[in-house]
Formats: sequence, C-alpha cells, structure tokens
Amino acid sequence: METVTEKEINKNWLAEHNRPALIAGPCSVETEAQLIETATRLAKTGKVDIIRGGIWKPRTRPGTFEGVGAKGLPWMAKVKQMTGLPVTVEVAKASHVELALEFGIDILWIGARTTVNPFAVQEVADALRGVDIPVLVKNPINPDLALWMGGIERLSTVGIKRLGAIHRGFSNYGEKIYRNRPQWQIAIDLKRRMPEIPLINDPSHICGRRDLLFKVSQKAMDLNFDGLMIESHITPDSAWSDAKQQITPEVYADLISKLVIRDDIQFDSLPGNDQLAKLRKEIDFIDDELMNAVASRMEIARQIGTFKKENNMVILQESRWNEILSKWIKRGEAQGLGEFFVERFITAIHDESISQQERVMTANDKK
Ligand code: PEP
Ligand code: MN
Repeated sequence: METVTEKEINKNWLAEHNRPALIAGPCSVETEAQLIETATRLAKTGKVDIIRGGIWKPRTRPGTFEGVGAKGLPWMAKVKQMTGLPVTVEVAKASHVELALEFGIDILWIGARTTVNPFAVQEVADALRGVDIPVLVKNPINPDLALWMGGIERLSTVGIKRLGAIHRGFSNYGEKIYRNRPQWQIAIDLKRRMPEIPLINDPSHICGRRDLLFKVSQKAMDLNFDGLMIESHITPDSAWSDAKQQITPEVYADLISKLVIRDDIQFDSLPGNDQLAKLRKEIDFIDDELMNAVASRMEIARQIGTFKKENNMVILQESRWNEILSKWIKRGEAQGLGEFFVERFITAIHDESISQQERVMTANDKK
C-alpha cells in the first residue's frame, strides 16, 4: 500500500498560520449569540488562527447535549465572515461532510470516537474524494498508534493533501489526574513515523480541568508540536458540554501569552556545539552499556529457561515477578524515576525474557 509519506503532502499548510497554529472556540456551539460572542472575543485577542465549534457532538452517554446540528453551520459561516478567520467543525459521517462543505467550512476534524472506527473514517474519506480541504485527525480514544495512522492514511488515499493530527490523550480506567492520559510517547512516535503531518496538541481534552491546561500546553510546545486546539467559552461553568475544561477568551489569551515558544533549531547546526557533542557521546556510551546489560540478562534468562524445562516448571512465577516489579519501582523512586516509566521499562524487559525462555523451551520440545 502506498503510505502517506510516499504521497505528495503539503507539509507546510499549517505553517501559513503562526507557529504554533492556534485553534480555539467552544466545545459545543450552543446558540448563535454564544458562538458569535466567543469567536469575536477570541479574534480580538489576536491569539487565534482558526475558530473551532462542535456542531455534531458524539457523546459518551445518551441523554446529554448532542449538538445543535446543521442549524449551527450558518452561524459558523457568519463567524468566518465577521472575524475573517477560517472555521473548523467535527465530522463523523458523510452527511456531515456534505453539509460542512455546503456552508463553506474551511477545515474539518475527525473526533477521537470516530477515529477508532475504520468504517466511519472510510465513510468520511469517501465523501471527501476529490475535495481539497484540510482535515485533522484526532487520536483514537485507545492508545493505538496504528489506528491513528490508519485514519490519516485513509484520508491520504482519497487525495487529501493538507492533513494534520490532533493529540487529545487516551482514556484509561482509573486515571486520577488527567481526563485522558497524554501518553506523549505515542504522539512522538507519530511525529517520527509521519514527519510530514503537522501535530497539534489538544490540552483541553487531555486535562479535563482548567488548572492543568497551561502545563500541558507548555509541554506540547517544548516537544515542538505545531499547534494547539483549546476550548473556550464565554461562560465556561454553564457550558452545555465539557464545562470544567473550558476557559474564557481572555483567560485563553493570557495562557497563550505566557507560553514559552522555543526555536526549532537543530543542535547540530549550532556553532560551538562541542559540549553537546561530548554529552551525546556519553549518552551513546551508556546506551551501549544498557544494550550489553540487557543482552547478558537475556543470556541468563535462556539458561533459566533450560533449567525450568528440565524441572518441568512453568515459565511465569508470579511471586518472583511481583518481587522484581516492586523492587524496581522502589529503586526507581529513590533515583527520581517515574513509576509509570519504571513499570513499562521492566515489563518490556521481562516480556522479552519470557519470549526468550519460551523459545528455549519449545526448541527443546522439538528435539
Ligand atoms: C471535542 O473536540 O469537543 C471532542 C468531542 O473531542 P474528542 O473527539 O477529542 O473527544
Ligand atoms: Mn469538548
């Protein structure tokens, strides 16, 4: 299959806007007056490039506000005319696409609950065949990079050239801090696998609460994201959806003005980068040692595999694994390493250990 990378993608379409490109607007379009006041106050701050508004709202549970529907489209068109800014809405099926195009919506986005469903994404893509409009694809609600990339690929395949990705975090049962855990590594991996796709961060849906918005936005900037999408409402507390995470246009402007935007300079091109080169050498040296240590650990794991085979023992000894895990977490904590990282790190090593033991044991079986 032809990949997005092989297709001719207009990498810089988003850069026509500022860096970062700033998208703001209400979670849901509620009334004409609410939308217009939000948009004009946002435009007045001079810190927004694109106005967003949810017209069709895919809600997790029924009985909540599901959007004003097509009746909001002329209001979005009015916002575009009044502010001179491009407008974007979420689409989830072919009929949404047709209506959005009819009303001159400039940019479309696909929501997290739609990206999970290849049939739905394909339906949207088919409705866009031959249409030249930018489309942003939110990550699916589950942490699945391939599914996210698959959504982008479906749009690329029908000829959409101005594509973008929105990182809005991933649901996680029992998560206490975030509404949707950021799992930054997935977004970083997307950037590495699809470098031509601009990457936008959506701190609103990651945080689910106002007090964390700045920290997450700044982190996205430090990771060199290309843009931000932030929900803004004139009276956030009485918003019909996502009330806790929305901020007024003025609070939004304040947040944006406090962000530190660093230059995207490649270190290697800096003069006098000897010190950096030295530090990088040290890192390479440690990486070598890490790899050697892991390889030695696997060698021992294979010997254990042989021993278990000879003594007819199961591979996974749960008490031993629990002991290793808690020891690592405790030691990691003492070294200032995050529990989530330590757990993923040792689990990955342990999983490989098990596969290596399995290989030893099945090889013996065949003899
Ligand atoms: C939204 O942008 O309001 C929305 C529904 O977001 P998500 O698809 O990320 O849940
Ligand atoms: Mn929302």
